[in-house]
Amino acid sequence: MTETHPLALACSVCSRRYDPGSWRWRCDCGAPLEFAANPWSADAGHGTQPDDEPPASWADTRAGLWSFEAFLPTDGGVSLGEGLTPLVDAPAWDAEFKLEYVSPTGSFKDRGATTTLSVAAALGVDRVVEDSSGNAGAAIATYAARAGIDADIYVPASVKPAKRRSIERAGATPVPVEGSREAVTDACVDAVESGNAWYASHAWNPAFFAGTATFAYEVCAQREWTAPDAVVLPLGHGTLFLGAYRGFRTLREVGWIDEMPRLLGAQATGYAPIVAALHGREAAAGANEVADGIQIREPVRKAQILDAIDATDGDAIALSETAVENALDALHGRGFYTEPTCAIAPAALELYRDRGTLAPDADVVVPLTGSGLKS
Ligand SMILES: [Zn+2]
Repeated sequence: MTETHPLALACSVCSRRYDPGSWRWRCDCGAPLEFAANPWSADAGHGTQPDDEPPASWADTRAGLWSFEAFLPTDGGVSLGEGLTPLVDAPAWDAEFKLEYVSPTGSFKDRGATTTLSVAAALGVDRVVEDSSGNAGAAIATYAARAGIDADIYVPASVKPAKRRSIERAGATPVPVEGSREAVTDACVDAVESGNAWYASHAWNPAFFAGTATFAYEVCAQREWTAPDAVVLPLGHGTLFLGAYRGFRTLREVGWIDEMPRLLGAQATGYAPIVAALHGREAAAGANEVADGIQIREPVRKAQILDAIDATDGDAIALSETAVENALDALHGRGFYTEPTCAIAPAALELYRDRGTLAPDADVVVPLTGSGLKS
């Protein structure tokens, strides 16, 4: 069998392939690209295969999420000790919370930033770009600093001065763009298309999703290799939602877990394209400006998100500003120091139970994705 390079790409729609030397941010057909081979499969030239059984000692605290290197496309060249976030009981919610906000830059985006910058370093990239004034921008700027790689972070011209300064402090260059959020992305893509930079996108880059998949490996490892009945997650571009799906699917494929959890998404009213696709526009309507980290009208991987929901008997619901604010108060009142956006997931858990989507005794994990220190 011919070995596939672990960084070779394949199109998720037309199956066209690209070797690592001709890496691009999306397929010529316009669709998102994926790694052509699973790192752990026999035809990938990775060298590290997962054991048939989960190892008794699965985690090296110094390696963090790179304890799961067998499932990752490259080695952890660019790391700040991310991953292995706590999984704690949350009795008031009758659930377990995974505290992603204790990550190096305060959000789960560090999972994707460590793998994305590690792949960039492996490919010899000298400049990366990202479009985000939020958690993804902070994570990419910080991991680029760790890698010694230049980074341009495209942000709306209206970005808060403090966010701009934190990008500059990491040695990255904020690039303010006038106009809509879409205009920011367009300007970033123009820079990529002109050939001057590598797109470290949390929406497009498959390396980012390989990183967010480690969320699932850790959840199962921390539960003695049992998957929960359901995971309730914030859903914007699907950076964590799809990563989690891929991670759980991988564990089932290698036989480390028996069942897939249901993936239940939480979207902000007024920015809920997945809810609209599943339940109609009425169910998605509103104007939730509090959960500003997931205000995505056109997720790049919308078809993949809908497939993941279908494959796991999942769902998506939209939550109002009031629901998020109430959940945020409840979280802080019980010691969970989170940003507003991620309070949407515990709010959704309550609604899923009220609606009967989740049985009262369902075993549920909820990630708390971002820190209150930044909000
Ligand atoms: Zn294609």
